[in-house]
Formats: sequence, C-alpha cells, structure tokens
Amino acid sequence: MLLDTSTLYLVATMVAAMLGAMLLFFGRQESIPALKWWGTAYLLGAASVALWTLAGAALGGMLLLALHAVGFVACGMVWNASRVFHGRKPNLPGLVLGAMAWIAAVMTFAPEASMMRMTIGAGIVAVYAALTAGELWTERRRTLQKRWPAIVVPVLHGLVLMLPILLGDFLRPQDAAFASSIWVTVFSVELVLYAVGTVFVIFMLVSDRVVTAHKTAASMDPLTGMFNRRGFAEATSRVIEREALAGRPVTVMIFDIDHFKSINDRFGHPAGDEILKLFSTVVVNNLRISDLSGRVGGEEFAALLPCSLEEGVIVAERVREAFAESGIVVDEGPVDTTVSIGVAGGPAGTELEVLLAAADTALYQAKRGGRNRVEVAEELPLSLEQWRRKTAGLPGQKPQKPGVPSLA
Ligand code: GH3
Ligand code: MG
Ligand code: MG
Repeated sequence: MLLDTSTLYLVATMVAAMLGAMLLFFGRQESIPALKWWGTAYLLGAASVALWTLAGAALGGMLLLALHAVGFVACGMVWNASRVFHGRKPNLPGLVLGAMAWIAAVMTFAPEASMMRMTIGAGIVAVYAALTAGELWTERRRTLQKRWPAIVVPVLHGLVLMLPILLGDFLRPQDAAFASSIWVTVFSVELVLYAVGTVFVIFMLVSDRVVTAHKTAASMDPLTGMFNRRGFAEATSRVIEREALAGRPVTVMIFDIDHFKSINDRFGHPAGDEILKLFSTVVVNNLRISDLSGRVGGEEFAALLPCSLEEGVIVAERVREAFAESGIVVDEGPVDTTVSIGVAGGPAGTELEVLLAAADTALYQAKRGGRNRVEVAEELPLSLEQWRRKTAGLPGQKPQKPGVPSLA
C-alpha cells in the first residue's frame, strides 16, 4: 500500500489540532492548568508540522528553522504539562532546551548531513517523551495498574522515533531514499496514534484524579482534616492486609476525650470544636507517617499502628501526656484536656474488628479507672465470633458496652 506522506502528515496534524482544541477547551472549562499546557502544545505542534508540510519548500532557511524550533517547544510543553499535572512547577529552561539544541545542530551540520540532523531531531523528541514517561512513572504510586498506558504511550513514541537511529546503520547502505520514505510514513502514522493515545492517557489521569478527589471528600472529617470513620476503615483494611501478608503485628487504639460534654457545656460548642482540632493535631504529631488515625465519632478517635503492642502503648502514653499538657486557657479559665485510651495489639492477621472490640473494652476500663489513662486489653478474643459469644452468651457477663464497635 502506498501512502502519500504529505496527506498523512496533514491528517496527523489535523487530528492533533482538533485534540489540542478539545484539551484547551476542557482545561479552561474545568480550570485544569495541565490540560491548557497539553492543548497549547498540540496546537503549536500541529501548526508547526502543517506549515512545514504545506509550505516547507517555499519557506526560507530561517523561517523553517523557527518552525522546527516551535515543534520542539511543543514537545517540551507536553513534558511540562505532565509536571504541572502533578503539581510541580513548569521547567522553563527545559522547555526551550530542545529547540536550542536543534538550532545548534542545524548550525553545526551542513544540510547534506540530513541523516545526522534527522537523528538529532528524533533524539530530542525521544528525550522529551522519556522525560514525560519518567514524570508519570514517579507519580504511579498505588494506581500503577491503571496507569500503565501513561508510561507505555510515551515510551513507545520515543522508541519509534529512536528506531531509525538504532537501525540507521542497517538501512543506510542499501537504499537511503527508500528507508527514509518508509520512516516518514511510519512517523506520520505513529504521530496520529501518539496524539490519540496521549489524549486517552490524559483523560484517564484526569478521571482518576476526579474520582480520587470525590473519594477523599467522602472519607475525610471536615473539622479535623483527619479520616472519618469510613475513610479510617478503608485505609486500615489496606494496612492490615499488607501487614498480615508480611507477618507483622498491628496495634489499635481508641481515644475518647474525657468529660467532653462538660467542656461543651462550660465553654460552648465552638470551644469544644477547637479542642477536637487540638486533639487531632496532638494525635497526628505523636504518630509516625506510617500510622493511621481518624475521627471515628463525636469525640472519639482511633489509630492503627503497624507495630507491637509494647511500642503502641508507648505511643498512646505519649499522646495522653501531650494532650494533658496542652494547657488550654480560655476567657472562662483553663480547660482540662484529658483523654482515656484503650489499646489492643494482635499477631499478624488479627481482624480489625477483633482489635477494635478489645481496644474498646480497654477504653471502658480506663474510664472506670478514673480517666486520663491508658489501658491495655488483657486478652484478645481469638475471633470476632468467639468474642461475641463470650461477651453476650455468659450469664452475668453481659458486655459492658452494647455492641461491637464496627467501622464497616
Ligand atoms: P466521658 O469522659 O465518659 O467520655 O464523658 P464525655 O462527656 O466525654 O462523653 P459523652 O459521650 O457523654 O459526651 C460526648 C459529647 O461530645 C456529647 C456531644 O455533644 C459532644 N460532641 C460530639 N460531636 C461534637 C462536635 O463535633 N463538636 C463538639 N463541640 N461537641 C461534640
Ligand atoms: Mg464518647
Ligand atoms: Mg468522652
């Protein structure tokens, strides 16, 4: 099949321009700066390739050079779009470096060395594609599986551009003209596929982000900025699974602020809210980055630590002390800020519900024991079912608190 290269390039540029306009429109409408970068890059790239294809022969050397430079800037913009998308600043020197390298190459190599020029040009585009892939790769984190096209598309693009360079030595001796015409066709087809593929990737990333934002909103407590009950349950189940696989123990604690109703009554509800915020700060400041915490009720908080029970107790004691010593004074006088904490730990694979049930019983003991203290669950029910039977079934041994605290 014989494909006319000029027509191919025109189709490629038209597709790229249309996608660019779409990205720009969507970016403005949803105010996503990265999409504006991407859209502008596509429009610039399309305009440069279209002018070059249609009027390249008629243009003077300098104009043609400028046109090429714009094309490379467009590649740099695609890379910068992925930076901006991940909240990083655009890299402006990097944006123009490719264009400058190209101008330097044109000045160094005579027009006869077209293969050399083509190699350098393809190399610059490949480097930008690799940078884009790298940018998306470092951001892969937990969504790795869903994001593989984000890496594969730019890498393939870079590879296709590098192929003639890698195979150049095989192709050149036989028939340079034939080889280059084949590659021009391959490039233009690839350009269309790349443009469409990238837009697919962009929308996948954007939708990924929107879903994450909604999920985050549904799992956060607006007052403290911590996980709410639902968010805590989801996050902890992931950690418990991970730790169970690794055979490591976990420790759970439940915090309940002492006499909180009386704080509300004496100092007012807004002051109570401030105490809740203060407590969340104390918890977060005293936990490690790998620990999870959340506000699971009005003045009840919970934490899950991937550590042994002994270590967990030290942390709980630290939180209790820090909160007691926070020394809050309002107009009406000092606010007594104390918290009771129930801690329970278990071997690898213990169910969260079992740990929470045990921690809740320990918390109840802390309250009964006079508050402002840490109590450790003495024994861990082997399974939730067993715990339920034990607390509900035995005569005279009714559960002290009704029901098992469930986060589901
Ligand atoms: P104890 O020492 O036994 O835990 O006593 P307590 O007063 O802390 O416990 P109780 O369960 O009787 O009271 C909890 C109070 O927490 C009642 C409720 O008005 C208050 N509360 C729940 N959510 C909020 C909130 O978001 N803001 C404020 N300011 N108060 C809240
Ligand atoms: Mg309570
Ligand atoms: Mg309380």
